Amino acid sequence: MLPGSIPGPTFDRLPTADNWFAIEWLPLGVLRIWEPHVSRLLRANMFLVRGRDRDLLVDAGMGVCSLRRFLDPFIDKPVVHVLSHAHVDHIGSAHEFAEDLRMHAAEAEVMRNPPADLQLSFDGYSEKRKEDLRKSGFDVSGALIAASPSPSFQPETWRIPGVEPTALLAEGDAVDLGDRSFQVLHTPGHSPGSICLWEAETGVLLGGDTIYDGLLIDTLPDSDPAAYAVSMRRLKQLNVSAVHGGHRESFGPAKYQFLIDQYLGI
Ligand SMILES: [Zn+2]
Ligand SMILES: [Zn+2]
Repeated sequence: MLPGSIPGPTFDRLPTADNWFAIEWLPLGVLRIWEPHVSRLLRANMFLVRGRDRDLLVDAGMGVCSLRRFLDPFIDKPVVHVLSHAHVDHIGSAHEFAEDLRMHAAEAEVMRNPPADLQLSFDGYSEKRKEDLRKSGFDVSGALIAASPSPSFQPETWRIPGVEPTALLAEGDAVDLGDRSFQVLHTPGHSPGSICLWEAETGVLLGGDTIYDGLLIDTLPDSDPAAYAVSMRRLKQLNVSAVHGGHRESFGPAKYQFLIDQYLGI
């Protein structure tokens, strides 16, 4: 059975996962982290990028299992936590990195007060949210997880804790790790506060949900396809070496250009 298509309103038959997170080391000190037991629609990437003075953590998954505890062995410096945007699949554990939490101003309010109907079963979603997702072609039945992170985990009571960002990012801001620096590119379209992080020196782009190797989504209530096209034309100019997107696997410059052209209908 596909994750995400588990029938019924209860979580009774969820098996306990041996490992909640999966990881993959990528070149240039980039660790990709994801949650294999989250339904495909919401199975997002997180990235830990090693710097000399600080490490950068991009996005925070669903928050079903403690990301902080999982990442503890990998972290020996202060962590700059940046959110690519504030959709539910990217902000779950943000509250665990509240000491330095940065995101675009346009979605900060969602992080402060995550909507209460964001639950681990679509049954808990508001009718409006389900309808919005249906319009975007999503199957909104069943649970959002196919396993439980521990026998004591209570999926019914899971909610994303709100947290106040420590800094609001804007176009052109730098995220400085000591020996490497990422530039904030404001790339609205998928959502109003979507950002990418660009390391010009290495050509590494952290794309969030603006660009990844899959169906790009511009039909959500907070999406803006016209703005998305402008963002994509801008991204097309970047000479990337590696792209780490908000979903699926990382890719190189040829796929990058292909995905942008496909979106723009070129
Ligand atoms: Zn998103
Ligand atoms: Zn996403």
